[in-house]
Amino acid sequence: MKKVVKFGGSSLASARQFKKAKSIITADKTRCYVVPSAPGKRDSNDSKVTDLLYQCYDAASSGQAYKRLLEQIKKRFDDIIDGLGLSLNLDFEFKKIEEDFLKKAGRPYAASRGEYLNGIIMAHYLGFPLLDAADAVCFDADGNFLSEKTNEELAAHLASMKQAVIPGFYGAAPDGTILTFSRGGSDITGSLVARAVNADLYENWTDVSGFLVADPRIISNPAQIETITYRELRELAYMGASVLHEDAIFPVRRAGIPINIKNTNRPEDPGTMIVENTSKKPAYTITGVAGKKGFCAVNIDKAMMNSEIGFGRKVLEVFEDCSISFEHMPSGIDTMSILVHQDEFQEKEQAVIAGINRAVHPDSIDLESELAVIAVVGRGMKSTRGTAGRIFSALAHAKINVKMIDQGSSELNIIIGVSNEDFEDAIRAIYDIFVKTAV
Ligand code: ASP
Repeated sequence: MKKVVKFGGSSLASARQFKKAKSIITADKTRCYVVPSAPGKRDSNDSKVTDLLYQCYDAASSGQAYKRLLEQIKKRFDDIIDGLGLSLNLDFEFKKIEEDFLKKAGRPYAASRGEYLNGIIMAHYLGFPLLDAADAVCFDADGNFLSEKTNEELAAHLASMKQAVIPGFYGAAPDGTILTFSRGGSDITGSLVARAVNADLYENWTDVSGFLVADPRIISNPAQIETITYRELRELAYMGASVLHEDAIFPVRRAGIPINIKNTNRPEDPGTMIVENTSKKPAYTITGVAGKKGFCAVNIDKAMMNSEIGFGRKVLEVFEDCSISFEHMPSGIDTMSILVHQDEFQEKEQAVIAGINRAVHPDSIDLESELAVIAVVGRGMKSTRGTAGRIFSALAHAKINVKMIDQGSSELNIIIGVSNEDFEDAIRAIYDIFVKTAV
């Protein structure tokens, strides 16, 4: 049994948090590969070290004052080292970092030092060897991530290491230039390591006890999701339920390795298990409900649209030519609606309308803005009769006008369009009917 454990920034923001991480790691001998993030915020007014590193680099590389900021960053690490009582000195590392900043080693290099230094501290603290991600996480000369090469490199290095600390977030191009994933990318490193060592489980330790059925800013104290499939997670994450970096799913999913989201501050909580498939019946018919505001519907009307071959393609081509991606496309016999992000659409709306007029000569084009889209997601919906009925009667009871309905072919989700101002009430109505009043 082998587990890969990744600790997020808030889990490693101070010596106190490091101690919690160590007791988690040592409590289970199978937790053998550790992927740390850079120190995050210690409280809501604090800064993430990654942000400080970007700022410091920008100042240093443009000839502005940077020394105080660099000292502030060093103090964050020194405080952790002192708090842990380690005999470790980062003076040499910081001297090198300063030189590299002045030599303009790049913003990704600067950002990566947070994970790199936290990796050194973690390795020292645990007595595990360090594998520098620059030696195993590979990008090509154009900065594209090389997943297969990385898998081979990680597997080769880790084959001879029973335990290791591998800093998250960064890797290197063939010439040694340090590059990073997008923000939050240590999640991806954890997933890559899990795949490379054929782990049984990828534990992602953070500051929440997993995914919630609904956004806690809308529903107070929502229920926890115990188990979620990768497909359900994709649907919810797309709608803004973010705990895990989107790209972290793919390496482990391919290898059939589950992810367990766990809370460093409440390790006894079971957290959320993310799995490919499960026979476990979900606690409620729905796994989660999430949504986003700020959509616009382009409603196109034309008599006999249904018999006009190529109508849909021509309309979608107009959006493609204007570089606008569409979200949903519910249609009737003589009508078709295209749902787009309002901010993306607004600046190009006249070009789109002119394009549609030219392409398909519709009877009318009507725009409806300030719409919200809600996804009700759940593998349990397929086998439960009446789910749609319950959703819509709950919304009708709450006096919410439904503007659009779209059910995915997988029967995994039902997408509902409502006006922005009804968004929160709609989420509450759906949550109440499936979770609060569920028997
Ligand atoms: N430290 C990086 C960030 O703040 C990466 C990570 O934490 O995953 O985005």
